[in-house]
Amino acid sequence: MQTFFKKMFDSMKAHKGRTIAIAIIAFVLVCVIVALCCLNAFLFNRFPKGYVPSDSDLALIRDNPENQYKRVVIIGVDGVGDFFSKIYTPNFDKMFSAKTVNGVDIGASVTYRGVAVYPTISCENWMSMFHGVRPVYHGFLFRDTNQRVEDGEHTNEEKYPSFMGQYLRENPSDEILSVCTWRGVNNGIIENDSRITKYNSYVEDIVQFLDGYDEGTRVVSNIMTRVDETEVASASTTIRDDIPGIEGQLYDYLSTQVKMYGYADETIEMRDAMTMQRIITETVSNPNKYRIAYMHLDQVDHAGHTFGYAKPAYTNAVSRVDTLIGRLYDAYEAAGMLEDTLFVLCTDHGHRTPGGHKNHGKNTSLEVNITFALAGKTVKTGTPGKYVNTDLAPIVSYALGVKAAKTWQGRVPHNMFTLLG
Ligand SMILES: [Zn+2]
Ligand SMILES: [Zn+2]
Repeated sequence: MQTFFKKMFDSMKAHKGRTIAIAIIAFVLVCVIVALCCLNAFLFNRFPKGYVPSDSDLALIRDNPENQYKRVVIIGVDGVGDFFSKIYTPNFDKMFSAKTVNGVDIGASVTYRGVAVYPTISCENWMSMFHGVRPVYHGFLFRDTNQRVEDGEHTNEEKYPSFMGQYLRENPSDEILSVCTWRGVNNGIIENDSRITKYNSYVEDIVQFLDGYDEGTRVVSNIMTRVDETEVASASTTIRDDIPGIEGQLYDYLSTQVKMYGYADETIEMRDAMTMQRIITETVSNPNKYRIAYMHLDQVDHAGHTFGYAKPAYTNAVSRVDTLIGRLYDAYEAAGMLEDTLFVLCTDHGHRTPGGHKNHGKNTSLEVNITFALAGKTVKTGTPGKYVNTDLAPIVSYALGVKAAKTWQGRVPHNMFTLLG
């Protein structure tokens, strides 16, 4: 062996020029490989693969009532990553499984290997999900982005409409509902438009609900709710706890929580319960009013930041969200609304706790891998092709028979809808 190295060094000395050239080529090659790996991890991995539905694809929906939904209900769960695959979530499993309801076959498409956009921050991802483009295009990248949308800053919605804005361009007389526990989505990510009703859930709503609760009617009217980005305007709203299938559940939950813990600390889980109840109240009371209903649940992300990824509190938060999904399912089942609804569950990113540091924002698999689930009569049962967060906007639009905005980078993944191959 020694002679081998000696020979090599002797040869290198004898051919200095050649040795330097080889070293430079090797260095350049390593640099190129490292650069390609980085580009793949941070950029190419976010390039969507899928369809841009053609006019004839859309006509199959628009011209055939049996392929149309009365509503799309989107359950946005902040910071849950792929965690629905890691614990027992019976209601998620029930909602997102293939079944036949009242003679209608419902398909379910679920992946836990969806891809969040980089950086894995809430605003960057929700903005990409709603507006169909990567962060460098919508312009919310790194600099206090969450705060900026909470404060009411918007992207260029003319150029990059959200799927809600795009829907209203084609259906100008329809209405949309959005209820959020994290106000950032309503205040900055979704367009301000009189046809989009927005509610943010605050602890004051819970106080008013419990104070005004009537055990006879189980209905509380005149809850004054802050509804727009100025956080000043109020609207008088009604919360119903008499919905068939889930009667009294909200009051039992909230009153027990308050008795045990008061309002002091973890009110976010109660606010999520209010968010879900508002969606159920509004859509079950007026089944033909809102074509799209979006909710943003925030307790899982909150538990991740406060207690850490996969800790008992994080796991419990996912279980509580699963319970809320069960309420939505049970209320819709009792109202006979399962078969004409498309259910979507999406999330912005996961979480991680390296060295006790509780956060997200980086490019690790725990933060990047995300759950994406669909259930509805045009959904193809199984695991879809590659899903990236920019795909939410084209997916919702396609399901409603709406043309994708030309500027969107997202696509409709392969193997997700029966009519799209
Ligand atoms: Zn988030
Ligand atoms: Zn977060």
